[in-house]
Amino acid sequence: MTKRILLTGGLGYIGSHTYVALVAAGYDVVILDNLSNSKRSVCDRLAQITGRDTTFVQADILDEPALAQLFSDYDFDAVIHFAGLKAVGESVEKPLEYMQVNVTGLVNILQAMQAASVNALVFSSSATVYDVSNTSPLREDMQTGFTNPYGYTKLTCEQILEQAVAANPSLKTGVLRYFNPAGADVSGLIGEDPNDIPNNLMPYISRVAIGEYEFLRVWGDDYDTPDGTGVRDYIHVSDLANGHVLSLNALLDRDESHLVNLGRGRGYSVMQVLNSYSRACGRELPYQVMPRRAGDIAEMYADVERAKQVLGFTVSRDLDDMCDSSWNWITTGAKDA
Ligand code: NAD
Ligand code: UDP
Repeated sequence: MTKRILLTGGLGYIGSHTYVALVAAGYDVVILDNLSNSKRSVCDRLAQITGRDTTFVQADILDEPALAQLFSDYDFDAVIHFAGLKAVGESVEKPLEYMQVNVTGLVNILQAMQAASVNALVFSSSATVYDVSNTSPLREDMQTGFTNPYGYTKLTCEQILEQAVAANPSLKTGVLRYFNPAGADVSGLIGEDPNDIPNNLMPYISRVAIGEYEFLRVWGDDYDTPDGTGVRDYIHVSDLANGHVLSLNALLDRDESHLVNLGRGRGYSVMQVLNSYSRACGRELPYQVMPRRAGDIAEMYADVERAKQVLGFTVSRDLDDMCDSSWNWITTGAKDA
């Protein structure tokens, strides 16, 4: 029988791409989102891509009665929980808001699941939970830590899940530590389009590419890396989306919890990303080297062995695919989204 999945935050960047992957894998999906960082028009885009109507409920994960109603309206087999706040800088300004939405929001979801006897949850964690003292490649059993309220909420959520599973052996969780998602669906209809000035590298470069910003500010070129600029593990958002399908399959078929990194297992420098994007958009993109950004580390990339062994996860897209698809999205779909 077709399995029904609740996708919280399903109209956002990673959620919308995961929706496409889930529908392609034969799942029936209901999206919950409060539209705080996404647009209703994504529903139509998702329908266009999948050829099926999108089931969307506008609600907030902090609204407990609305969650109870949703769980009584639909029989869910599992939940994938993306909804939350994700801007590191903003979390320093508004730590309580981050704790309420990210931590209380997760507790609300777990309680609603428990009340409805839904026992499988995939959770969006982040490589930010690794302590900065670790050396890459980062392995799941390495030391955790946090340097800002956003990281604190992600680590706290992981610990809450651990304790919830310990207390309820029927509950199975897939904790996915994302590295740096980038790129967009091949259709160009969905992608990342931050409302504010982007902090992250790829969306900032895309704005330079369309001429909205004059140049990229490269935060430091004196790191101990091959070209001196920061190295990160960029993963195509459609590969990341497939990782969620594999995680869900593992929870539903094998009834086993897991905690895995989702990355490509190799790093690219800021200059490599800029060069790849320059190739994608057909012009040399301007940049200026600035002092290092506070809190940044030289390099960070995943050990991907566990994801491969436990989930069979591999990627099929490279950095050029990420830049090509980002450019396609920003010059087509993003314009009238
Ligand atoms: P996003 O902001 O694009 O998507 C989040 C979605 O959740 C949005 O559509 C937003 O409207 C919705 N939302 C926010 N608060 C809500 C609430 N209270 N109730 C209901 N809906 C709410 O973010 P994303 O990049 O797709 O990230 C998804 C998840 O992955 C987040 O939990 C984020 O912390 C995590 N994550 C993201 C990255 C990244 O680089 N994008 C990296 C690691 C982890
Ligand atoms: N970066 C940069 N200019 C920018 C944004 C990011 O040089 O405008 C660099 C940043 O210093 C880091 C890399 O790009 O080395 C990735 O940064 P991002 O914020 O995207 O990811 P994170 O550092 O959170 O992994």
